[in-house]
Amino acid sequence: MIVIKSVSAKTILDSRKEKTISVTIDTNAGKFSASSPSGKSTGKYEAKPYKKNADEVVKILKKFSDYFTEEIIDKFDDLKRIEDIVDGHIGANTLFALESAVLKALAKEQNKEVWELIYENFNKEKKFPRLVGNCVGGGKHSETKTKKPDFQEFELIPDKKTVRENYEENKKAKKIIKEFLEKKDKNFSGEKNDENAWITSLNEKEVFDIFSELEIPMGVDVASSGFYKRKKYIYDNPMLKRDIEEQFGYICNLIKNYNLFYIEDPFDEEDFESHAKLLEKFPRSLIVGDDLIATNAKRLKKAIDMKAINAIIVKPNQCGSLLEVKRVVELAKVNGIKTVFSHRSGETDETILADLAFGFGADFFKSGTEGDIRVKKIERLIEIEEELK
Ligand code: PEP
Ligand code: MG
Repeated sequence: MIVIKSVSAKTILDSRKEKTISVTIDTNAGKFSASSPSGKSTGKYEAKPYKKNADEVVKILKKFSDYFTEEIIDKFDDLKRIEDIVDGHIGANTLFALESAVLKALAKEQNKEVWELIYENFNKEKKFPRLVGNCVGGGKHSETKTKKPDFQEFELIPDKKTVRENYEENKKAKKIIKEFLEKKDKNFSGEKNDENAWITSLNEKEVFDIFSELEIPMGVDVASSGFYKRKKYIYDNPMLKRDIEEQFGYICNLIKNYNLFYIEDPFDEEDFESHAKLLEKFPRSLIVGDDLIATNAKRLKKAIDMKAINAIIVKPNQCGSLLEVKRVVELAKVNGIKTVFSHRSGETDETILADLAFGFGADFFKSGTEGDIRVKKIERLIEIEEELK
């Protein structure tokens, strides 16, 4: 059992050099801190990251600190007590950091790892997620003066036995893809984007052509809400507009021609119907909802009722509440929906995502392939894997 004595917060810079929040709690088991990532291609249905902004929340939490004194937490579900105190006052990023710090304290006090607070109802068989490695980027994650793919992420999803082997495979593949880009993209400079994926001036088909040279299952985050305006998908590379039907046809052709294993947000975040049509046609591919669901149990329920997706992105700071994450995962599991625990494009060195993913029995883990803060999360997963051997 932990007793929270005080709570404080400060702003720190994320990997994009933008302000995010770090929360520290003082407890009978010692002091514990956790920080929150932040997204750039954020969904319309995500909870607000802050009440006003990160600086304001530091002040608000200071005011709330007194309410926490003597708050007792004994198990995961006691996070409800935290939510009862701060609900609606601090925003999703702060709530996620606060609840993460509480779980770290509880784990320490109980002489456990964070994942051990969760896994019994979710991952008793101790299965590890497959890595979704972002290799080439476009869309909102790639700032470039030349052209870029309109789709946001091109991923490789190897299926070796262990997390370590899949990680090694992704690193090797990323180097091979670089050699292809050097040959095929005259503008290629070796630069990487927000998530350390290669920046290219090729378009999505040209990237898929290169990926097809490797025999590794392919994935893509279309992040299509980012370029959907007034009932049209507006492409820059090449410049053209696709209406809803045309976008549907285009996505079907890509899945067929490139044997795509994983397709995230192929249609706008309001368009459950097109997702459902796609899933009916390609039940063996993963049709993944990120902006569509925004880690929100109500939206997931709607998607399940409409048979719109068979996989869901879980980004804890999209909703902030780890109890909502639990509800979302429960609902997904009961309905056979695969879960993909995911980092954000703006990240910190926080690694609790790996514990949550393993504890909740995630099927996939999306955390980039390179860059200290992303690799740290994969290394935490490998650490759990190797400790359990
Ligand atoms: C994503 O869209 O899957 C993603 C990680 O991007 P962001 O964090 O910018 O929402
Ligand atoms: Mg996404």
